[in-house]
Amino acid sequence: SLTAGIVGLPNVGKSTLFNAITKAGAEMANYPFATIDPNVGMVEVPDARLDRIQEVVPAKKIVPTTFEFTDIAGIVKGASKGEGLGNKFLENIRQVDAIVHVVRAFDDDEITTVSGKVDPIEDIQTINLELSIADLDAVNKRLGKVQRAAKGRDKDALAELAVLEKIQPVLESGKAVRSIDFDKDELKIVRSLFLLTSKPVLYVANIAEDDMADPENSKYYKTIKDFIAKDDPNAEVLGISAETEEEIAELEDADKKDFLEAEGIEEPGLNRLIRSSYKLLGLETFFTAGGPETRAWTFKKGMTAPQCAGIIHSDFERGFIRAETVSFADLDEKGSMQAVREAGKLRSEGKEYVVQDGDIIEFRFNV
Ligand code: GDP
Repeated sequence: SLTAGIVGLPNVGKSTLFNAITKAGAEMANYPFATIDPNVGMVEVPDARLDRIQEVVPAKKIVPTTFEFTDIAGIVKGASKGEGLGNKFLENIRQVDAIVHVVRAFDDDEITTVSGKVDPIEDIQTINLELSIADLDAVNKRLGKVQRAAKGRDKDALAELAVLEKIQPVLESGKAVRSIDFDKDELKIVRSLFLLTSKPVLYVANIAEDDMADPENSKYYKTIKDFIAKDDPNAEVLGISAETEEEIAELEDADKKDFLEAEGIEEPGLNRLIRSSYKLLGLETFFTAGGPETRAWTFKKGMTAPQCAGIIHSDFERGFIRAETVSFADLDEKGSMQAVREAGKLRSEGKEYVVQDGDIIEFRFNV
């Protein structure tokens, strides 16, 4: 499954955020025996649609879908030159599908920073520079090979050469490959290069508890947002207080509600982090209902009905016949399966159907 890796300089709050994630994950009712890598934190994806489906088509239990975060060991300056745990750090980033970049955005004299001051922009640049240098190395090596092949007028080599030549100056200026616009064919080549700065990024500003209800009140958060809008326009920024999230994750449900109310927020920041990371990876949700459980399933945007059937069970994909489908919006509006049918909103979809976020599906298949 796809995973988002948590990175950041030392003492910015990465472990605190990761602890909040594992504590929230430990509460999961449906996965009591999940044994996982200590560097992986599994959480349920909060989705209010599940409750509404359960209301309309009651089942014994609700099973949310899950998402994984990976804790990536601390970076040091010079990682791209193999200093400290540098090589391992870059290798770990290579393995994840998206990056959650935690940035210190709170004042606390007791907690030192690498640079001796709180300077989120410098912090962001420090990490991104290491990633750009590592990518630039890879691109330059590849350029050498491809240039030789392109001399022979090899069509693929020429296409790759053009992409590499588009990427090189951007990396040299310290910017991320994801900030470049590519067409479809170019994108295919870019993907084959597995570059670190082509991965989607979510910046998490670790803000003070006092600013949690309204991150815009944090001067650091604003600075980060303005900077990212210019420097890394295809990335997103979230304001979260890691320490508070860890406290929230430890509370019982009833206390949680009181705590959130007192803080003046509707839901834990962790929920926003989970949803944003999910979206960042191009993930969507379909549902199954009407059996023993009302359940959410994760799929990659663009997957067809048989492929989605295969997520539940490979037999479902092999023997796929049809997908009896209703959109969440229609179920929500009609309020019962019978009303959905009477309104002609129950669709019988075939092999080519591209599943949409929010579809509630009953698969018909041969065994
Ligand atoms: P890491 O090195 O990035 O993993 O950072 P840690 O999560 O270990 O945090 C470093 C220190 O900062 C710890 O003492 C945390 O308790 C503290 N810390 C983390 N988040 C916050 C926060 O939101 N506010 C304050 N005041 N301290 C925090």
